[in-house]
Amino acid sequence: MSFQHSDRWKMLIGGKWVEAENGEVFEDISSIDGTLLWTVPKGTRGDAKRAIEAATEAKKVLADMTPMERARFLYKAADEIEARTDELAEIVTKEMGKPITQAKHDLGRTVAICRSFAEESRRILGEVLPSENKGVWSLVIRIPRGVVAAIAPWNYPYLLSVNKVAAAIITGNTVVLKPSSDTPITGIKFGEIFTEAGLPAGAINVVTGPGPVVGDELVRNPGTNVISHTGECATGKEIVEKTGRLFKKICLELGGKAPFMVLKDGDVDQAVRSALWATFAGVGQACIAVDRILLAEEVADEFIQKFVEAASTLVIGNPLQPETQIGPLVNKRQRDHVERLVEDALDKGAQLKLGGNRVTENVPQGGFYYQPTILTDATQEMKIMQDEIFGPAVAIVVCKGVDEMVDIANNVKYGLGSSVWTKDLNVALDVAKRLEFGGVRINESPFYDEPHGPHGGIKESGMGREGGRYSIEDYMDYKWITIHTIPRKYPFDPGH
Ligand code: NAP
Repeated sequence: MSFQHSDRWKMLIGGKWVEAENGEVFEDISSIDGTLLWTVPKGTRGDAKRAIEAATEAKKVLADMTPMERARFLYKAADEIEARTDELAEIVTKEMGKPITQAKHDLGRTVAICRSFAEESRRILGEVLPSENKGVWSLVIRIPRGVVAAIAPWNYPYLLSVNKVAAAIITGNTVVLKPSSDTPITGIKFGEIFTEAGLPAGAINVVTGPGPVVGDELVRNPGTNVISHTGECATGKEIVEKTGRLFKKICLELGGKAPFMVLKDGDVDQAVRSALWATFAGVGQACIAVDRILLAEEVADEFIQKFVEAASTLVIGNPLQPETQIGPLVNKRQRDHVERLVEDALDKGAQLKLGGNRVTENVPQGGFYYQPTILTDATQEMKIMQDEIFGPAVAIVVCKGVDEMVDIANNVKYGLGSSVWTKDLNVALDVAKRLEFGGVRINESPFYDEPHGPHGGIKESGMGREGGRYSIEDYMDYKWITIHTIPRKYPFDPGH
């Protein structure tokens, strides 16, 4: 197995590095300055089919291994990701513009997730059920589902791919990974790393190419048994529609609209530090980014003043520089989307406290840079209060009390991450209970995640959970085996 060379990237199918079947390529453009980084195979439906066939062939090999044997691949891959952090971080920074220091931070979390799934090997538990009849051993065991289609987005490409790939491998499934077309090399690198870690040929396949072609084939092909997609709500809904009659297990991690609620007794200084990171990390392009800040009247002035002050010191620049905190948005579409939301809010009466403009000076030309932007006086009619922002902007609302805060927080179609700041534990727990979100952080931002916790959303934020044993629920099925040591009496027996 040789490493890939950037002058001719290839896809991984059945243990071999291959071009697209028709030889076509697409351009991998840098978000930093819009220049061409590399050309990448433009996979076809045929390529996706071949990858599914390779994964199907490899199923038995992986399923026959013990979980601890499979864990060894994950420990090795984690070590390799750790050792190659600089190289991997540079790729993601070049591809989608994440500031390099944050890209390295994400890779640290990617390593932790990979090891966490390896640790799960000792906890893939079955059950022995009590029986109504004597002499019966009633065993419930876990079995792999088969082939996992792992369809990843661009915003945390390594972290969100490892959530799928490592979960698939530890549970004895094989996998076809389709990285986002904005970050295709991250997927190719994963193919390299997991193959180097010793996975048998076909256990991991990587097919690059357009979502509506390669992704669509992975979704519709009867050969895939689990579809694990992280991405836009609209894509998730399409997947549900297309698989409705195919009896696949569907795991969807979709959009979010995280509320960050500071109650009247919340610790303002801590909350400001936390909100700063959770609003602007990854240039706000995170499903659990703080999208709406809801403040009690008692703390509003102090919070806004300190938050604006802190955000105005963020360093905007070339994301390859270690001091940069705000780099470009991934592409023009994303920058235009943020701009439209800000304009709509201003038209409807929001007050601009910071930012609100493109950045064109002291940044590489050709990228899509936007200032950290803070708006106050937001109302429910504004798009910025309903649509995912996915950029370095946030809307603030001052609320009359806890009930109003909870109502506003819940009044969106999303239900992923949320955050509550208060010193009163009774109030915190009451609010946590009332919030319609898959995750509630008390005195921490929605950005707090641990590898073995159940990350995921309710409402239109998706279905299924990623993390530790919660992933195992989705990636494994049950088999019920009974052993009978005493002959049973049947109704047809003479004299019954
Ligand atoms: P996306 O457009 O849904 O793309 C995600 C993946 O789906 C990409 O690999 C894409 O391929 C593929 N895809 C596109 N169309 C497809 C189709 N018809 N069939 C199958 N696959 C298809 O989402 P994105 O723009 O990359 O990601 C941003 C979104 O992800 C945001 O809404 C964000 O909130 C969400 N997100 C959610 C979580 C979470 O854990 N809940 C985490 C991170 C991000 P191409 O790139 O080739 O189009």
